Amino acid sequence: MVEPAGVYLHIPFCIRKCPYCDFYSVTDFSLKKAFINSIRKEMKSSPFVDLCFDTIYIGGGTPSTLDAKDLGSLIETAYSGFKFVDDTEITVEINPGTISLKSLKQYRKSGINRLSIGVQSFNALNLGFLGRIHSAKDGSFAVDSAKKAGFENIGIDLIYGIPNQTKKSWLLDLKQAVGVNPEHISCYMLSFEPGTKMEKDRKKGCFKPMTECLTGDLFETTMGFLTSHGYEHYEVSNFARKQGKDTRSFQSRHNLKYWSFTPCLGFGPSAHSFVDSKRWWNYPDVKKYIDKIEAGKSPVCGQEKLSRQQKIIEMIYLGLRTTRGICIDTFDKKFNTDFKKIFKELIFDLEAKGSIKVSDNRCFLTPKGMLFLDSIASLFIAVDIK
Ligand code: SF4
Repeated sequence: MVEPAGVYLHIPFCIRKCPYCDFYSVTDFSLKKAFINSIRKEMKSSPFVDLCFDTIYIGGGTPSTLDAKDLGSLIETAYSGFKFVDDTEITVEINPGTISLKSLKQYRKSGINRLSIGVQSFNALNLGFLGRIHSAKDGSFAVDSAKKAGFENIGIDLIYGIPNQTKKSWLLDLKQAVGVNPEHISCYMLSFEPGTKMEKDRKKGCFKPMTECLTGDLFETTMGFLTSHGYEHYEVSNFARKQGKDTRSFQSRHNLKYWSFTPCLGFGPSAHSFVDSKRWWNYPDVKKYIDKIEAGKSPVCGQEKLSRQQKIIEMIYLGLRTTRGICIDTFDKKFNTDFKKIFKELIFDLEAKGSIKVSDNRCFLTPKGMLFLDSIASLFIAVDIK
């Protein structure tokens, strides 16, 4: 069966740039109107009208800087050009510093049925370090208002590994997160991405990053705490509340596509698309993006066709990120190989160390193995596959 595809819309506006963030965004809103026109045109000119879709994900940037009318017009444009299933998941990322109960009610009316709220922390010092525009109270208010507005699928994002954070303060964040009872919790480890202000400050010695030992401890704490509070750990950074027998129902349907080679069309500046082993991406420049579209030209600035070797690497790396792991049958059919034979010694070694398991035709990391995702994936990738 062909998995339905996803639509991603990149809204490139933020009120202020957070020092750790390397996503493309600008703080000048003067091109907002022109951008809305252009992204609608880009969707209308897409040739992929035969695909069937079941997700729309509006990310950024800060999509909640747009009003419900604009977001609604983007959703309408997507629906007028593409085929969607009845229960399509429509997610919008929101920043707690940009919403009100009124705006969330309007979002709900415009067809949005899932929110991803960038709470990041319930601790004022952490929010200050991260340069967020909102307070700890705003985070709880956003979740509360989302519920009052009728949202029944709410995700919150948290960040750990912040300098001076302790296990005790991270546990307090986790307790508060569970206390507001969201359907989904993402916990990302703070990373210092090249070119960001935070990475420059780190190099200048402005702060002392958390030790690897403590970040590992916080990761284990996260897994233990959230799974014991009814959240299923389904991807290295993602946890979803279980709903009855259908344990996958609150997992992010859209993000699962990125980890399983499912086609996704991206629209807007810097947005990436993936269909049939081909990946392409738009100019990460809102002015250039608009100019190209208005001139009737393509906003695509790069593309690649994944080689067999690249596909193997991605399938291993992306598969190991999820707790379902790599589907051995799919791997063998796709690459005409014998996974268990090729990786026999490595699997034996890693199973003995308690880092991976092979069962039900799947190869997946144990919670202990998840701690070493990158190094274990590199061991697989280093094996010669003819
Ligand atoms: S609000 Fe989000 S997208 Fe904007 S700068 Fe901060 S982290 Fe990046």
